[in-house]
Amino acid sequence: MRQTVNFSAGPAALPEEVLQQAANEMLDWHGSGMSVMEMSHRGSEYMSIQAQAEADLRELMGIPSNYKVLFQQGGATLQFYMIPLNLLRGKASIDFVHTGEWSKKAIKEAKGLAKVNIAASSEDRKFTYIPAQADWRLDRDAAYVHVCMNETIGGVEFHWIPDTGDVPLVGDLSSTFLSSRLDVSRFGLLYGGAQKNIGPAGLTIVIVRDDLIGHAPAGTSQMLDYQAQVDNDSMLNTPPTFSIYLAGLVFQWLKRQGGIAAIEERNIAKAKLLYDYIDSTDFYANPVAVPDRSRMNVPFTLRDASLDAAFLKGAEERHMVQLKGHRSVGGMRASIYNATPIEGVQRLVDYMREFEKQNG
Ligand SMILES: *Cc1c(COP(=O)(O)O)cnc(C)c1O
Repeated sequence: MRQTVNFSAGPAALPEEVLQQAANEMLDWHGSGMSVMEMSHRGSEYMSIQAQAEADLRELMGIPSNYKVLFQQGGATLQFYMIPLNLLRGKASIDFVHTGEWSKKAIKEAKGLAKVNIAASSEDRKFTYIPAQADWRLDRDAAYVHVCMNETIGGVEFHWIPDTGDVPLVGDLSSTFLSSRLDVSRFGLLYGGAQKNIGPAGLTIVIVRDDLIGHAPAGTSQMLDYQAQVDNDSMLNTPPTFSIYLAGLVFQWLKRQGGIAAIEERNIAKAKLLYDYIDSTDFYANPVAVPDRSRMNVPFTLRDASLDAAFLKGAEERHMVQLKGHRSVGGMRASIYNATPIEGVQRLVDYMREFEKQNG
């Protein structure tokens, strides 16, 4: 294990084994005499890398054959606009479930294209829970229902899949991609930036059901039209080749770990270790409703916020970095994605205990 444990929310830690493999292959990929970075995206070597990455992702997630996988750029943030552009299909409005900062950003972008209905919101309790489906006011004529499956800043996660009947469900998976089993067939579209749980920044993955493709309005730029992207195998222009290659190495690493079911078990154990400790003392606190707590992003506060700087300094001295909470929330945030080993979480808990003893 590397000495430094990186708790960044994104771009985030990658598996050491994957970085080592990329380093070994950096100058000469599989005897090609080239780095992947130097390859033509139209050449057979690179095409095989992208095809393998897609095949491995399909296998890991069990993506049904009537779904397309797109490797896009522009981040999840561009999808906040591309999704309504492509999925509105002549309908008047979109239903959103508002659970925090990332929902808010998605809502704002969609408002430029359609009427937005807030079907449910957890704003009344500062976005510290997921509203129960019984309380949602869904519109049967909505173009789709949008949910953020894991709010990276607030640390609130859906541990269930909403039932939206015939209205397509769209999920932002940016910070929870490949962290737990997920029935893709319950969604019309899933998307996320790679830099949280999959690979380097620059790559955005979109998984979209066939019947939702081909509805962009006339005059839409081909770059923003899912149909044009599908027709060109996500190679309408030069794709982020190195990011896709690295994502592919992460998919193979995940398969070696035993797939998503095995990684999910590990993620449950990691999150439990940290939450159990936070709950055992009133020196630290996490505000999120217990059933909705994120397994990936764990925000926590110190009882006395004037100790925050000392806490962070001590953590850095112990080679634990990027624990400072998001500016909108304050306190700390430990992001413990797939690549974070349980030993790293244990080291954080040991330090938290020690810090409490000295300052409690
Ligand atoms: C990081 C993040 C985004 C934004 O991703 P970009 O790739 O930076 O555009 C959107 N949604 C969620 C849930 C995120 O965590």
